[in-house]
Amino acid sequence: MTGLPGVPPTSGQGEPVVVVGGGQGGFQLAVSLREAGHEGPITIVGDEPRLPYQRPPLSKEYLSGAVTADGVTLRTEQFFASRDITLALGAPVVEIDRVRREVVLGSGERLGYAHLVLATGARPRPLHVPGSDLAGVVSLRSLADAEALRVSLDGVARVVVIGGGFVGMEVAAAATRHGHAVTVVEGLDRPMARVVTPEVSDHVSGAHRASGTTILLNSAVRALRGSGGRVTAVELDTGELLPADLVVTGIGVLPNVELAEAAGLRTGNGVVVDERLVTSDPRISALGDCANYPSVHASGRRIRLESVQNAVDQARFVASRLAGDGQGRYSAVPWFWTHQHGSKVQMAGIPVLDGSHVVHGDVSAGRFSVFRFDRSGCLVTVESVNRAPDHMAARRLLAGDRRPTETDLVAAGYDLKALVA
Ligand SMILES: Cc1cc2nc3c(=O)[nH]c(=O)nc-3n(C[C@H](O)[C@H](O)[C@H](O)COP(=O)(O)OP(=O)(O)OC[C@H]3O[C@@H](n4cnc5c(N)ncnc54)[C@H](O)[C@@H]3O)c2cc1C
Repeated sequence: MTGLPGVPPTSGQGEPVVVVGGGQGGFQLAVSLREAGHEGPITIVGDEPRLPYQRPPLSKEYLSGAVTADGVTLRTEQFFASRDITLALGAPVVEIDRVRREVVLGSGERLGYAHLVLATGARPRPLHVPGSDLAGVVSLRSLADAEALRVSLDGVARVVVIGGGFVGMEVAAAATRHGHAVTVVEGLDRPMARVVTPEVSDHVSGAHRASGTTILLNSAVRALRGSGGRVTAVELDTGELLPADLVVTGIGVLPNVELAEAAGLRTGNGVVVDERLVTSDPRISALGDCANYPSVHASGRRIRLESVQNAVDQARFVASRLAGDGQGRYSAVPWFWTHQHGSKVQMAGIPVLDGSHVVHGDVSAGRFSVFRFDRSGCLVTVESVNRAPDHMAARRLLAGDRRPTETDLVAAGYDLKALVA
């Protein structure tokens, strides 16, 4: 067993591991830790009163009615019981007592840990404009939110989505398919601008507009107007009023760091961890949406990612480290996907804003990839629209020691699989 300096190994010593957060990352940590041979107690403490579930379908298949709440559940109760993983659900952790190495639940119960893993995720960023507390103004993070949104969609005609990020655009697609009149209000000059290139934004916007969605760009919301306590319109800073029966806000998320902060752990756009995902307390790790880590795929820059891949890969990494399979730094290639109006957009790598990019494929047919290079000319990101093989190959290429340059790609005729080989 090769323990890491400063981090106590836990496997085989019967020591308890407690995971705060029963989402994608907390679930994966518990399962992977048991699979890695950890013999001690593993407890997932989650504030939601449900078995761990997947969030991606909430804005896609669940909203469109293609899957039910059961369909998004990750595993049954029996699965956890069979692996001797204890679930404490509907149980918020309200305090971490680092001196006694215990977490305190809302009920007052205390749970001891040898190692604690924070997988507390994130919550929707609140919209701070007058009227944002009106009925009919909702956001989407949890299954409970999605259930409420689905019910709300049944009784309304005009939907305004504030924020043209991934979740906002996915909700807009689902609402349009429901037959609603949907308007997306985005502050920047194109949807999903912080992550994808203009070519991908254009493709996705085109699909939305062709389906009847109105997208207002460079637009800011000044207030939400209502009548009888219920929202009736969105007021833009130009004074324009957009009639609305339902307003969905999708303006990003805030990492859930308050627990860590109150315990004196280092925070700052997330719970700050090192390259092994250890917090400023060597007995506490953090992962997933709440973790701020230095990424080898961003030249060591600290980032915080919000994706299933990130939560799952970080959980596997921490589980393996806790089980004593000493590893160096966390280095999995980040990747992400979104589905909108029949288009599958996938991304691998961390985008750089000051680099260059090349488009390859058939843009008009909606089957193309965008290769993004950093200033030194090395490939850093591949965005694929309906080109899953490019995406798969990109993940392997970006995981390699030597990243191809644009010259390499041209020489290979942009055949990523050939470059992988
Ligand atoms: C609508 C939607 C669509 C998405 N679509 C995609 C997609 O297409 N592709 C993709 O890659 N990613 C997608 N994501 C993002 C992805 O779901 C998240 O990145 C992922 O769930 C992060 O996992 P996590 O474990 O870090 O956090 P979460 O899954 O959010 O889990 C954190 C859990 O911790 C709980 N918690 C917080 N504080 C406490 C406390 N004090 N005590 C106990 N429990 C606590 C929270 O309530 C939550 O249950 C989507 C997210 C949403 C909301």
